[in-house]
Amino acid sequence: MTSRSDAAAGRAARRPGSMPTVTMIGGGQLARMTHQSAVALGECLRVLAASPDDPAAQVSADVVVGSHTDIDALREAAEGAVALTFDHEGVPLEHLRALEGEGVQVRPPSTALQFAQDKMAMRRRLSELGLPVPAFVDLAGDVATGREALIAFGEDHDWQVVLKAVRGGYDGRGVWIVERRDEALAVFDAQAGGDIVLMAEQKVPMARELSAMIARSPYGQGAAWPVVETVQRKGQCAVAIAPAPGLSEESAARAQQMALTLADSLGVVGVMAMELFETVDGDLLVNELAMRPHNSGHWTMDGAVTSQFEQHLRAVLDYPLGDTAARSEAVVMANILGAEEAPAMSMDERLHHLFARMPEAKVHLYGKGERPDRKIGHVNIVGVPGASVDDVRERAERAAHWMSNAQWTDGYPTDGHETGESLGDENLGDEKRRAR
Ligand code: ADP
Repeated sequence: MTSRSDAAAGRAARRPGSMPTVTMIGGGQLARMTHQSAVALGECLRVLAASPDDPAAQVSADVVVGSHTDIDALREAAEGAVALTFDHEGVPLEHLRALEGEGVQVRPPSTALQFAQDKMAMRRRLSELGLPVPAFVDLAGDVATGREALIAFGEDHDWQVVLKAVRGGYDGRGVWIVERRDEALAVFDAQAGGDIVLMAEQKVPMARELSAMIARSPYGQGAAWPVVETVQRKGQCAVAIAPAPGLSEESAARAQQMALTLADSLGVVGVMAMELFETVDGDLLVNELAMRPHNSGHWTMDGAVTSQFEQHLRAVLDYPLGDTAARSEAVVMANILGAEEAPAMSMDERLHHLFARMPEAKVHLYGKGERPDRKIGHVNIVGVPGASVDDVRERAERAAHWMSNAQWTDGYPTDGHETGESLGDENLGDEKRRAR
């Protein structure tokens, strides 16, 4: 086994060029796709991954295997890097502050990231800045006081409330949408006194969910992509539609401005997603902040002049930011989610069939095993001129559903015969067939 210092020497030796090293903490798909952009810029993203099998660790030549909660692993990953950034929000703040104290360029800095780590701190800060948020109440501290606060808040809002874990939630985990007093109190009582700190907020009468993605560089330059509509299923993003259909120019500009202003006042560096609720009355409320590449920005890989991953690197390296214009009037991203039961057909075979039927589909697979509802990839469809957004969305969802389930949503046959004479498996040469 190589020691940590041998590994560090090996990494240094592999870097004869003069391009900077960026370290990303976390080896998931966001780091994997950031690495793709790093390659184009002549760089190799260094990744701190929990395991060599992690999506980004599979593809980067510069991997530190270790935990994001281990300060020594963080230090090793930061060694010699121009900037340290993240594919998740989980690094303990005290570690980030320690690294900053040692001169590491943590981007976004701990002073900004704290608000993405703690929903209560974020709600408070957003309110102080005058940004619109759902009504909320802190349930931390003494259990009896918290319970009373929940009851008072629930009564005020007809028990249309959502309970949330203040820290550590993602993809709907740590969010309880309740209908009644007894349900809310059951959630509270189950968590009371445990490790999970709760807050409650008003359940917003929502028309839809939006995301405003922006980037900010240390120089202070800001850039905003078109605001997108996100469609959630089972508490996680399933589809993103760019730009958000029917959103007025004024609302879109307001959302972008809120995100840019917030990033500026918090000193965010890198890309940031501001998730918003559009209420049935047309108001915008801020739900969440993510200070990293985000699922709602995956469409930019094929649908915008500059992808969120390249932009994140530009920002953390303090390069001028790239053009955020969309390449089409309609771009739709649909997540490929693990099916309830993984199909018998291999992923390779599914991809083959998809490409036979939909040559325009841009597929991004993360190198992850299939588990129910797990994000294992996504498909982008960039609309051709004149295509309706509904059509583009239907195609993206059909493609993603096929990749998840090996079933076409429109009943198209899957036996290969109808996939086109020149593209069906039976027309592959013997050699190609053997390779499969
Ligand atoms: P996560 O950290 O898991 O992304 P969110 O706070 O974004 O958690 O909540 C997940 C989903 O739950 C949201 O996308 C939204 O659909 C729903 N939700 C969250 N807060 C509210 C709210 N106040 N009112 C209505 N729905 C909500």
